[in-house]
Amino acid sequence: MPRIKLIAGNWKMYKTPDQTRDFFHHFLPLVTHHDRDEILICPPFVDLHAALESAEGTNVMIGSQNIHWANEGAFTGEISPLVLQAIGVTHAIIGHSERRQYFGETDDTVNLRLKNALEAGLTPIVCVGEVLEEREAGLTEDVLRRQCTRAFHKVSTKKADKLVVAYEPVWAIGTGKTATPQMASDAHALIRGEAAQTFGHEFADKLRILYGGSVKPENAKALMSEPEIDGALVGGASLEPKSFAAIVHY
Ligand code: PEP
Repeated sequence: MPRIKLIAGNWKMYKTPDQTRDFFHHFLPLVTHHDRDEILICPPFVDLHAALESAEGTNVMIGSQNIHWANEGAFTGEISPLVLQAIGVTHAIIGHSERRQYFGETDDTVNLRLKNALEAGLTPIVCVGEVLEEREAGLTEDVLRRQCTRAFHKVSTKKADKLVVAYEPVWAIGTGKTATPQMASDAHALIRGEAAQTFGHEFADKLRILYGGSVKPENAKALMSEPEIDGALVGGASLEPKSFAAIVHY
């Protein structure tokens, strides 16, 4: 069975609720009949309601950019999977490199967040990827192995059913530099191998691994044509309806 690609937009800390509605007003007509791939938008928390209302009954799903490892408690500034689910959010990005770089996210907290997202029945998108110094030092494989092993620690194959992984080389995020389709493909094969070790080959064959890092309308086709690449996690180019729609239609 071919893996259905997931084209996901990560809006980071951009757009107000009104700007969110405006985006959907222009974006939805461009993707109305698109059923080849799954489409997801992950706006800031405050925009989730506007996004969910705008996308209701359409082929566009809505995700969050983070999720906490507890369902409730004294965790100021965090977001509970139960709250996300209650309003209709279906996906959650976990361990984005910006969370790792600026907000103290570690492999262990990624693991905790992943377990709770799966427990809540949400689809987690776990981000992994090496920084430039690690690639230049020939450490990419070690880093990806470590990030995957720790993220998947004590997650059962049965529970992991909805898992999605995003390979995002940090040096390619927001920089305009993209991994070549071959570089991405090699990294994806390695991640799939790690998933096979933890969850078994049957699971790994079905696992969707997205590529993220300066995906644009101009490079989407070459990247998405690689059999190892099962979709895209798109930052900057997901903010503008026409450019995100062009990526969806790669
Ligand atoms: C991202 O935010 O995950 C990302 C890949 O950003 P960009 O597409 O802007 O590089």
